[in-house]
Amino acid sequence: MQDSAVRSYLGEIDFDAQSLRAKYDAERDKRIRQEGVDQYIEITADYAHFQDDPYSQRIERKALFDEVEILIIGAGFGGLLMGARLREAGFEDIRVIDKAGDFGGTWYWNRYPGAMCDVESYCYLPLLEELNYVPEHKYSFAPEILEHSRNIARHYRLYDNACLQTVVTNMHWDDSSQRWVVETDRGDRMRAKFVAMSNGPLHRPKLPGIPGINQFKGHTFHTSRWDYSYTGGNAMGGLTKLADKRVGIIGTGATGVQCIPHLGQWAKQLYVFQRTPSSIDVRDNRTTDKTWFQSQPEGWQQARMDNFTTLVGGGEAEEDLIQDGWTDIYRKLSGGAARRAELEMGRPLTNSERAELLELADYKKMNTIRARVDDIVNDKQTAELLKPWYRQFCKRPCFHDEYLDTYNRGNVQLVDTNGQGVQQISPNGVIVDGTEYPVDCLIFATGFEIGTGYTRQSGYDISGRHGRQLSEYWRDEAQTYQGLMTQQFPNCFFLGFVQTAITVNVPYALNEQAKHVTYLLQNLRRLGRDLIEPDADAQADYEADIHRRSQVGARFYAECTPGYYNSEGAEGNMQGFFTNMVTADPMSFYEALRLWREQGHLEGYQLS
Ligand code: NDP
Repeated sequence: MQDSAVRSYLGEIDFDAQSLRAKYDAERDKRIRQEGVDQYIEITADYAHFQDDPYSQRIERKALFDEVEILIIGAGFGGLLMGARLREAGFEDIRVIDKAGDFGGTWYWNRYPGAMCDVESYCYLPLLEELNYVPEHKYSFAPEILEHSRNIARHYRLYDNACLQTVVTNMHWDDSSQRWVVETDRGDRMRAKFVAMSNGPLHRPKLPGIPGINQFKGHTFHTSRWDYSYTGGNAMGGLTKLADKRVGIIGTGATGVQCIPHLGQWAKQLYVFQRTPSSIDVRDNRTTDKTWFQSQPEGWQQARMDNFTTLVGGGEAEEDLIQDGWTDIYRKLSGGAARRAELEMGRPLTNSERAELLELADYKKMNTIRARVDDIVNDKQTAELLKPWYRQFCKRPCFHDEYLDTYNRGNVQLVDTNGQGVQQISPNGVIVDGTEYPVDCLIFATGFEIGTGYTRQSGYDISGRHGRQLSEYWRDEAQTYQGLMTQQFPNCFFLGFVQTAITVNVPYALNEQAKHVTYLLQNLRRLGRDLIEPDADAQADYEADIHRRSQVGARFYAECTPGYYNSEGAEGNMQGFFTNMVTADPMSFYEALRLWREQGHLEGYQLS
């Protein structure tokens, strides 16, 4: 066959792209399940205890019937950044509310052994310059991130007036007083002029709907509620109490990959039940060079975050300041790669050439990922089962330097389910392909609810003007202006991944959103106005724009192996992780918001 222009440009292609494509399709097809996201069990009723907080003792307090100017729901990075930016702008009457016993959000809950952030800490940890804080490593471990969250809360006085261990149960707009009324499981009925919600995109643990799941007689928990009283140790390891235990873990996503090495090290016997292997690239963590860090000029963190967001959005930057696995895969496999090819070939690529280029580059990259498995894992059959057969961005890329080695231990057995998932859970263990694997402890590393709708995930409904219920209004999809406000819900802001631009470095998006909301509130104050709400036409135009811009991601994910990125392979779910969202070039989205602020017209909002 004559080489295409793209093949000639790429140089030697030492694989058969057609058979790889067929292999990917076959692996995908065998994983598709009719139930889609409904294959998971909602953690309520008989399963509610899976959500119990193992980290804090409950503290009793009296119900509150007071009023604050700004109520922030969510004490994770979104709530922290919102609080910080508001304090910097001189807002004093703030309350943060969260179901957790402390600040930290995902880092409060996810304390499993080995928990760390695989996005560079100098970009990921918010407000480093403001707090004059030097992260210990290029990639931070969970305890440090949790402590940094607490430090932010202390620095910006967000513990003052906070309501922790408090679950919001309902929220409604009272038009007569022009206030939000917020009710909680503590009997509170507090009022707020403004509410900013940052509930977190991945905060509600989910369980697989495996027959028999509730009959297991041993010990069991979800990774986001790690039971150290049972395992011993802490987030850095040392799970000494597992020395005489047979442990099973279901799930090999980013969480499973991080905790499995510790379980392998300490358990008498570990069974890893796998449905789909993750792609495991090089981590290469290292301690921070303090001299380098201290020599950074003022404003360095924003510049570094901008650089990272540009690069992992497929954009061009003169320099790659981060130089890690994330920027490497985006440089090779996204828009930047196509632009470089065009420059070198001296002409624009056709759409099909561009698609061919990115597909071939992806096969090349994934071949190196699969070769790494062969290099590290001694047993050839196990190595084969650990190889991912899908495109790099179909599932969250993982970076780890001890995960694959774990399968060389004599006490660790990979139980692959050929893409079908665990067949059954018995009182004594886990059944796959008719074989029972008896375990004393079964750990669910099965992730978090995605694709089921905003109010189901937040756990409370919101009633706007004229009793309009958000659950009804957003039943099929979120509808907003600027990803932050929606019609008939005045003075109510949505932070996080709601019809906005999604990026690998989540705090980047949250910071930009927090700045934007702060700007809006400053302007209301300056103009002596009390209410803000999007204009119907502006909202409709915005929605149309997001629908158009989300098409690129939708096409890509439709062909991917199932997972939470593509609503488990179910097409057309507008509540999905990447649907109704800008996925390409998030920088341009946030730059447009910045520009909009600079223009100062508050275009698209009605103020009164
Ligand atoms: P995921 O949803 O990514 O993984 C869930 C795992 O459970 C998958 O391996 C899934 O298999 C498996 N599973 C589900 N049902 C079954 C079943 N019936 N039988 C067997 N296996 C099953 O959750 P995680 O908690 O791992 O990660 C969630 C997200 O949290 C990440 O994608 C990432 O965004 C974030 N995170 C970030 C980290 C960081 O470093 N910044 C670290 C950890 C998490 P299948 O793949 O086949 O669906």
